[in-house]
Amino acid sequence: MAGPERVAAVAPKFIELEVLDNQQVSPHIRRVTLGGDEVSAMTPQGYDQWFRFFMRREEQDELRVPTSASTWFPQYLAMREAQRPWIRNYTVRGFRLDASELDIDFVCHEDPGPGAAWAMRAGRGERAVLLDEGLLYNDDGLEGNVLMVGDESALPAIAGICESLDERSRGVAVIEVGHRDDIQAFDRPDGLDVRWVERGTARAGDAALEELRGLSLATELGYAYSAGEQALATGTRRHLVRDRGIDKRRITFTGYWKLGKSYVS
Ligand SMILES: Cc1cc2nc3c(=O)[nH]c(=O)nc-3n(C[C@H](O)[C@H](O)[C@H](O)COP(=O)(O)OP(=O)(O)OC[C@H]3O[C@@H](n4cnc5c(N)ncnc54)[C@H](O)[C@@H]3O)c2cc1C
Repeated sequence: MAGPERVAAVAPKFIELEVLDNQQVSPHIRRVTLGGDEVSAMTPQGYDQWFRFFMRREEQDELRVPTSASTWFPQYLAMREAQRPWIRNYTVRGFRLDASELDIDFVCHEDPGPGAAWAMRAGRGERAVLLDEGLLYNDDGLEGNVLMVGDESALPAIAGICESLDERSRGVAVIEVGHRDDIQAFDRPDGLDVRWVERGTARAGDAALEELRGLSLATELGYAYSAGEQALATGTRRHLVRDRGIDKRRITFTGYWKLGKSYVS
């Protein structure tokens, strides 16, 4: 049985943005701030609000994107290959509706694909487009503690969730990062313990899974959420279901990326 349903975006439309700032915030994370009049057309939903992000390829003079939120994919396929944009998925890291600005934290990983490479070169004035997709997180009002497990690609999601949860929420978040300097501070309920683990030379996700296996989840678990490298997301779910007897319907898990594989739209 599948986990909880996604929470749809509110009136999704293509939002055109312009790069305002681009900062290396830690060894593997670049924060790109985007803004523009169209930001206010997006409804902030908090939690792990994610979107499809359309970027100009380096050799293109201008960015061309599909126009229909409901049929963008066939539109994209109908475009001549040389005119197609790059498309990758990202999460809202910061949203300042009053200033019409939003931040995206890009993991600038080894073997950078088009998304990471775009973040490393995007200068002020560079245009990009997003299509809001809503939330994957959905605890559906389940009673009990929350458990979150992810890597740095899911750090924006876990931070956004922590900032959106009711202040009486309790639980644990395990976040694996490539380097201790990639650790970030964010607001969270007092009862939510964040455990940072460093990857070191291990395979992506292994350190977080080891931390998870050793966790004593004393009280009843209400809902679990896992995102990041594919094997981390599936491994979290498998451990919770097989070793801890958690009902699959209480678990949302999403492979954000796959080791050794480029994202294919
Ligand atoms: C709903 C959702 C939300 C997401 N939010 C974010 C976000 O806010 N920030 C973010 O950085 N990512 C986020 N991701 C993950 C991001 O979409 C992928 O990491 C994507 O593959 C990056 O594209 P790329 O072009 O850089 O690399 P790709 O072309 O997809 O891959 C090139 C190579 O890089 C490797 N690779 C890809 N991503 C990573 C990584 N994170 N670490 C190490 N190696 C990697 C691949 O295995 C491959 O070998 C999200 C994914 C989803 C599904």
